[in-house]
Amino acid sequence: MGLSWIKMASYYYMRLRGLSNYGLTCCINALLQSFSATPELLELLNKYHPPEEAELNNVPMQLKNALCAMKDTNHHSPHRDFLDCLHRHSIHRFTEHDADEIFHSILNLTQKQMTDKDLAEEIRKLYEIKVETQVMCKECSHIQKTPNSLYSLPLAIREGYNTLESCVQSFAQQQTLRCGEECYCDRCMMKRPFTHQLKLVSLPSVLCIHLKRFRNDGITRKLHNRVTFLETLNMNICNDGQSENVLLAKGYYSLYAVIVHIGTALCGHYTAYIRPTQDQNWCYADDSTVRQATWKEVQDTYEGKTAYLLLYRKMSESASG
Ligand SMILES: [Zn+2]
Repeated sequence: MGLSWIKMASYYYMRLRGLSNYGLTCCINALLQSFSATPELLELLNKYHPPEEAELNNVPMQLKNALCAMKDTNHHSPHRDFLDCLHRHSIHRFTEHDADEIFHSILNLTQKQMTDKDLAEEIRKLYEIKVETQVMCKECSHIQKTPNSLYSLPLAIREGYNTLESCVQSFAQQQTLRCGEECYCDRCMMKRPFTHQLKLVSLPSVLCIHLKRFRNDGITRKLHNRVTFLETLNMNICNDGQSENVLLAKGYYSLYAVIVHIGTALCGHYTAYIRPTQDQNWCYADDSTVRQATWKEVQDTYEGKTAYLLLYRKMSESASG
């Protein structure tokens, strides 16, 4: 009796609900579906209680309200206030947006506006990818390091066929600066040719991967090339022995949301595939339409209707074997 009630409750808890499109808001709608499938974020937002007068223009507060309202099936427009709030922060309706940029804007505004700084820090840590840029002088081998942090891992796509693993590997591969490009070496005390390397220092429990499908070389175009990915991602792949210490961060990750971009760089539409927990089926959300989906359908986003953001959750050590 007790167990079936829990099963029932979790079914309603996790059931996806559609979100109306209020004028090119598909990008934010798709992101909201992914935030809604991130209970780690909800748990932190639920602890947030800003002063009442600050609520209307407060992005983290409106995000919390929207995510709570999405669970209430009687609520007709759970995210309307959130959209209005973003609109007042220059994320306008009736404007085509880039899902990775909006993902960053929402997290940055949350950091900026959250009055509870400890809570803001916990949300930052939930998504924060720490990287280090290393440039090495080719003359004296002196290495200069610059730390940086990211909310999504930007992966370049090559022409032809890509696997997610190959994209991650090229992210950390050594590149010589282009011909004529030199950096100032602190030891040689002059400009020298350098090699350039990005090192992943640590990975968060929620890993957002950004497949860089939009390229701007004068005019923005979309790369439709095939990128395959699996439901489980092994982030130990860079430890190949040749590039020692390239990847300090490691672990196995489980895919739970895919933000899909359909169309061209000029005219597109966003939808989302969501799987809130590993023992659930995939669901598909296209604005107000939601339905059950299959892993096979998610795989169709390797090309054509293309996956753009991939959200992975770190698996516990025991689960990853
Ligand atoms: Zn040098």
